[in-house]
Amino acid sequence: MTGNPVLREAQHAESHAEPSDADLEKIARMPRSISPSDIEPNPSVSVGYPNRGLLRFGMRINDDRALKVKVGSQDSRHATGELIRLIERAAHEVAFRYPRAELTVGDLSRPGGGRFRPHVSHQSGRDVDIGFYLLDRRSTPVNAHVFVRLNNQAMGKQWGSLYKFDASRNWALIESLLSHPTTDVQHIFVSNAIKRRLLNQAIKERANPELLMRARRVITQPRHGAPHRSHFHVRVYCADDDRPMCKDRPPFYSWHQRATQAPAVSTLKPNDS
Ligand SMILES: [Zn+2]
Repeated sequence: MTGNPVLREAQHAESHAEPSDADLEKIARMPRSISPSDIEPNPSVSVGYPNRGLLRFGMRINDDRALKVKVGSQDSRHATGELIRLIERAAHEVAFRYPRAELTVGDLSRPGGGRFRPHVSHQSGRDVDIGFYLLDRRSTPVNAHVFVRLNNQAMGKQWGSLYKFDASRNWALIESLLSHPTTDVQHIFVSNAIKRRLLNQAIKERANPELLMRARRVITQPRHGAPHRSHFHVRVYCADDDRPMCKDRPPFYSWHQRATQAPAVSTLKPNDS
């Protein structure tokens, strides 16, 4: 017997093109291109409009290492398969860039959709409220899993603790949401103060110009109703295979390839949240 057994084993593994421990470690940390929900069938159908609709065969979002459904939203964690996968992908992409990051998921829709007070929308499985990634008072990233109302300096208090907006992780979230290959986001409602911080972060990071353009247009403070200082409200367009049962209202953006023809000019304003 000659040679170091560990070295021998490594050479042996190499000769079979087996991944080394370092490779395995790297693979374990890669963002998942396949989520558990990806291998489930997706028969979900969003019926009608977000503020007057239903959800058929909705998919349920489950907690995992990169996302948690917050307390109070446990009975409203259903949505279309497309929206669930969009959220899971975003959570895992952020956690890949910022290890240990956990997304805070709030209300989606009730299991069958339909009216869901106090929301106006959230009826057809295409809306989700998402908490901000937050920093503590020493600017250390935390996973608080609460919605914290932030002031114009993007700071807020909850249960005696001070929190600040984490521009890096929140911009990473927006980048992922706006770059999905098949699911397009129509709205990200949030206050203008938060929008400004996100765009500043994007510019600082030299974000892709196409993504930055999308972010400028998709992120808006609602004209009516709450300005959204404690969370993002994200809405996706109808999936192609849910039309014509599923209905969208304008705006329709140029990068959103629709199966049906969009009206030429958008006249409606985003107002429901
Ligand atoms: Zn909402």
